[in-house]
Amino acid sequence: MTDLLELTRKLTAIRAVSGNEGAVAEEILKLAAPYADECYTDILGNLVVHRRGEGKKLLFAAHMDSIGLIATYIEKEGFVRFGKVGGIFPAETINTPVVFQNGVRGVVCKEEKADLQKLAVEDLFVDIGAKDEEDARGKIRVGDTAVFASETYLAGDRLVSPYLDDRIGCIVLLLALERIGKTQNDLYFVFTSQEEVGLRGAKTAAFAIDPDYAFAVDVTDIGDVPGVKVKNHCSLGKGAAIKIMDSSFIAHPKAVELLERAAGAQEIPVQRDVIQAGGTDSGAIHVSREGVPCGGISIPTRYIHSPNEMADPGDIEACVRLVAAAAMLEPQ
Ligand SMILES: [Zn+2]
Repeated sequence: MTDLLELTRKLTAIRAVSGNEGAVAEEILKLAAPYADECYTDILGNLVVHRRGEGKKLLFAAHMDSIGLIATYIEKEGFVRFGKVGGIFPAETINTPVVFQNGVRGVVCKEEKADLQKLAVEDLFVDIGAKDEEDARGKIRVGDTAVFASETYLAGDRLVSPYLDDRIGCIVLLLALERIGKTQNDLYFVFTSQEEVGLRGAKTAAFAIDPDYAFAVDVTDIGDVPGVKVKNHCSLGKGAAIKIMDSSFIAHPKAVELLERAAGAQEIPVQRDVIQAGGTDSGAIHVSREGVPCGGISIPTRYIHSPNEMADPGDIEACVRLVAAAAMLEPQ
């Protein structure tokens, strides 16, 4: 458990807004290399960890990038206007501490006159404590990106952190890599880039690898908090979630069958994952070339894309076991 907390702290502390995944890729490479036959990065910044086998090619993907803020304009008073990189929800970012890629810190604030009901990113700015425009320009350039600087900690037994989406998926792949024993399968663990801006890294990685099966490992939404709009049976603490459908793809029956067979054989607690909004790397991979049977292993997560996402270590462990079991199972 300490390991999981420490590993989460380590990986979520690295700034990796979409398109700038290099630093997190470097850290993941160090952790994955002892378990791989070869590791390489490609042009879009995907990190590919390959364990060679004679059999079918299985690809497991978790994205390294995160959503973030991008500086677009500096006011004469020194406040920094920003745009979104990926799905930032304006109302959830107010009063959140942020840190830019060069270490400059600030806080997200809203214009006093802004209507909370209709809050848009245009109503917000980052106060970096600058005295005026010139002072701010000395610290920030238009195009610099920032991430939430919230804490990683345990609330009860549960893990709270920014960017569990999807560093926790990367951690699931890393922990599964350690546990995979002998198998015929030719395994590609791909730590992808630019998922949050349209599954871009997964697209080129899938084309290059041309897998027989692929599984995205990512967070999924839950229905176990007060006042949920859409009823969803997925809950924290009930196990790994097997993707059936999200807004980016419909899981292939053969991929679902493989995961359910793997879970059944090892008695891994699982639940079914059906969400109406949100997608994963499988959305890009399943339509690669002539099509790839795709599935998904999801970590049930509360408050996705907020500065404080929450997941259950028991579910994370179930996802690690499921990835390891699926990686060793021969597709039928
Ligand atoms: Zn994600």
